[in-house]
Amino acid sequence: MSVARATPPPPPPPTLARLGSVPDWSRLDPYQGTMTREEFVYLLRHCYARKPEEADGVIRIEEDRALILRQSNHPASGWYDLRFRTDSPLPKEGPLYWRAPVEVPDLPENSTRPLEGLRIAIDPGHIGGDWVTWDDRHFKLGGPDTLEVREGEMTLMVAKILRRDLTLLGAEVFLTRETNDPVTKERVETLQDEARAYIARRGQIPSPGLIASTAKAMFAISSEIRARADLINDTIRPDLALCLHFDASPWPGGKPVFRSPNHLHLLINGCYSKSEMEEDDTRFEMVLRILQRLYHEELRLSDTVSQTLRKETRLPAFSYDGTSGMSVNENELVWARNLLANRVFFCPVLFFEPFCMNHVETHARVQEGPYRGLREINGVYRKNLYQEYADGVTAGLVRYYRQQRQRVP
Ligand SMILES: [Zn+2]
Repeated sequence: MSVARATPPPPPPPTLARLGSVPDWSRLDPYQGTMTREEFVYLLRHCYARKPEEADGVIRIEEDRALILRQSNHPASGWYDLRFRTDSPLPKEGPLYWRAPVEVPDLPENSTRPLEGLRIAIDPGHIGGDWVTWDDRHFKLGGPDTLEVREGEMTLMVAKILRRDLTLLGAEVFLTRETNDPVTKERVETLQDEARAYIARRGQIPSPGLIASTAKAMFAISSEIRARADLINDTIRPDLALCLHFDASPWPGGKPVFRSPNHLHLLINGCYSKSEMEEDDTRFEMVLRILQRLYHEELRLSDTVSQTLRKETRLPAFSYDGTSGMSVNENELVWARNLLANRVFFCPVLFFEPFCMNHVETHARVQEGPYRGLREINGVYRKNLYQEYADGVTAGLVRYYRQQRQRVP
């Protein structure tokens, strides 16, 4: 007589970010033994986990290894075993998808092309033109003759100025988009089933309103940024990505209003919440960023470029309350925040948030457009908004790469 053995219930569908895919944990294998316990714990607790204890449920720190849960809602799937570096003769670094400044050739003295040999991707945030209604980053304030503010068109203008200027300085520059159109081939209509499934996996009721808003976010944010990530990671393979945005202050009640103050900040990747680290793909991407030591490069770059951008724009610092963004050093302009773009672009990412678009002065400068030369704005002669933004970024990159690449003989 045979005894029927109860088959275990199938594992639940994994928790993933919108349009994320199940991670292949073996991609971490080349990083075995490349990072000490001390460095791994420092990066995880200082920058990546929002609070140290928020990572505890999914990443266990042992004496000689980190155990990383493979599927957060199904512990039976096991833990990925990441051994720390010890004194044994193992390689010091795993493969990097980008080149650090020390790997790019040194600069000759007094070079006029300090960015020679660098590959730089520029990602103009958002979309514009006919697509602007799918993106929430546009508004009109003032009389019928005022121009609508459209973030996705403004970032493209800055991107094209930067391409011209950084190319003259020797860089190879690639834009993730050349027009106002989306990069992704998906559309709201093609994402309906994905949206419904995503809502169901999160245990929510798939009401028509929730399906519509989820499909919209999947199109304009998730799918669009992931399509740009494919370009960056598979084709461009840059040493640095510049994510261009303009900031805005919230307008509760749905009607745009002018807000003060105007401000500036830059973001590096970090500040993952417990629920973000419970997404299997998000947790995998975070660990891969830690193992590629992207923190150090992003912070050094942001520290330098934030200073030149502040000098150029004269903007005061913005600050977060520690919920979605947190500070990692003394620089009041630089914050850690987990965004899709600065998580899935696999290279150092500089993420810019200068100018509050619904500040009265920024709004007035948008109305002036990309004029030549200088114009008086509130009693001060200034470049047009887009050139000023680009010049602040360019000056910082020149300063950073000169410092890094000009070696004392
Ligand atoms: Zn933006």
